[in-house]
Amino acid sequence: MEPISEKEKIQTTIAALRRRGFDARFAENSEVARKIALDLVPQDWIVGCGDSATIRSIGVLQDLADLGNRVLNPFFQPKIMREKPQPTPLRVFKQTVMGCDVFLASSNAVTQDGKIVNIDGGGNRVAGMIFGPLRTILVVGRNKIVQDVNEALDRIKNEIAPVHSRTTGISLGKLCAEAGKCVEPETFCEPGVRACNIIVILEGKPPDAWREIVVILVDEDLGLGWDPAWPQERKDKIYAGYKAFTPPHRPVVE
Ligand code: SF4
Repeated sequence: MEPISEKEKIQTTIAALRRRGFDARFAENSEVARKIALDLVPQDWIVGCGDSATIRSIGVLQDLADLGNRVLNPFFQPKIMREKPQPTPLRVFKQTVMGCDVFLASSNAVTQDGKIVNIDGGGNRVAGMIFGPLRTILVVGRNKIVQDVNEALDRIKNEIAPVHSRTTGISLGKLCAEAGKCVEPETFCEPGVRACNIIVILEGKPPDAWREIVVILVDEDLGLGWDPAWPQERKDKIYAGYKAFTPPHRPVVE
């Protein structure tokens, strides 16, 4: 079978997401994605967000704050974070997820048959995605489209987790950061160093009329995610883009 082009992959994935009830949209680039996201947020809505280099990179949080929305962002600006990473109070995280009308995040991977795959260490990002907000907006770069759930989990554990842990200096994911790939099943990844604690796969949009899940698929590489077989140059560029918008880890304190 002929390999399909990146554009065809995006269109196939959008169609599959729509079949599953998600409101899937296409954006030619990150600027268009930013505009789509902005149009989806009424001015009086409270905005929450997950930890996402993609969301930070498209600048939508700053736009919303400038427009007068209350933005709950425990991750702040990367520059400020680098200068002075402070612990985040637990109540701030809780409020970010449960106290918002709209939640913005990305996803670790989206399959070509329309499933949204995420692995979280603490769960605040996936919690905000699945219940609470009236609208969830996920902005996903083309580099995060995968064939199926197996490929998604393989990529997240063997590519994303080690790189993310190494970049943020977080102790969660220490073992794969050192090994360059997931150490399981040969070595048990114990609590305390395990970053892969919560796996959430959205296989369909929940039926409640009051909530919407919008997925904006962008024809541009955004955030952390790649096929290991891609040319090193493309992977380096993706990493540089992700790193520029990824602050060091902030511990959560009560
Ligand atoms: S299970 Fe542990 S070693 Fe494997 S990817 Fe997750 S954090 Fe890394």
